[in-house]
Amino acid sequence: MVSYKELGLVNTREMFAKAIKGGYAIPAFNFNNMEQLQAIIKAAAETKSPVILQVSKGARAYANPTLLRYMAQGAVAYAKELGWEKPEIVLHLDHGDSFELCKDCIDLGFSSVMIDGSALPYEENIALSKKVADYAHQYDVTVEAELGVLAGVEDEVQAEESHYTRPEEVIDFSKRTGCDSLAISIGTSHGAYKFKPEQCTRDPKTGRLVPPPLAFDVLDAIMEKLPGFPIVLHGSSSVPQEYVDMINQYGGKLPDAVGIPEEQLRKAAKSAVCKINIDSDSRLAFTAAVRKVFAEKPGEFDPRKYCGPARDLMEQLYKHKIINVLGSDGKAC
Ligand SMILES: [Zn+2]
Repeated sequence: MVSYKELGLVNTREMFAKAIKGGYAIPAFNFNNMEQLQAIIKAAAETKSPVILQVSKGARAYANPTLLRYMAQGAVAYAKELGWEKPEIVLHLDHGDSFELCKDCIDLGFSSVMIDGSALPYEENIALSKKVADYAHQYDVTVEAELGVLAGVEDEVQAEESHYTRPEEVIDFSKRTGCDSLAISIGTSHGAYKFKPEQCTRDPKTGRLVPPPLAFDVLDAIMEKLPGFPIVLHGSSSVPQEYVDMINQYGGKLPDAVGIPEEQLRKAAKSAVCKINIDSDSRLAFTAAVRKVFAEKPGEFDPRKYCGPARDLMEQLYKHKIINVLGSDGKAC
């Protein structure tokens, strides 16, 4: 058993309380490799933003659970080296799908876990989330649970009430599970193809797709039921057109990729939404930078020469999100 406190990490409790009060949101960036981690820590340290390092089950399988944990420990030391005296860094499991996986992460030094029982029947979701919360709280690890179903890349995205979180369930759910934060579904979606073209309108000037707006009425109703309770938005990449264009220009093929407009995320960040998950945008930045080097310098074969520019572009992206979208800069001095 390794306590996250020994690793210099923090849980989300205080961070979220401050974010709700201050009208900003904490960035939750997924990482799978060293370059992503470097870019996240550099962006957070230089802007003095609290940050959540997210690891999915897939990332653990890709990078090795032990190595990932030591990378997070290294991230704290690196942040200090960059002049950030008291780094506020969370190591969080994204989309834990079983009690065993959550327990394994807690035992390995994670400071926060998500248990995603959103695909289960309501009572089973409660039972599983409660089991994880009861275990996690013994070690002061915070727990995110999910209510409502987010569409995935392959799923049929439907703007129907049944997919959204039902505000009438949130009080009962949060009380009975004891979760510390709640991921909700109000129209965000995972991946770089969040909406089908037929769900969008086209901007007559640019010809680009404009996605349907988020259901702020549902968010308002949830906040009314749970005043001051931390809310989480998944699937909140904006799919920046400049990266999509770069990828397509240099031999890629991402037709009609579409994300959540940043002005909607800005609006959400000012509410009780205090954690916003961003993964696809950094994947796009990484890929765009690598494709550019490959296209312009076909003789290049030193990975540092294409992973380096990818790292720089991701760092720019993370800083932009922190400063211009979430407003978390300067909140962790
Ligand atoms: Zn998610």
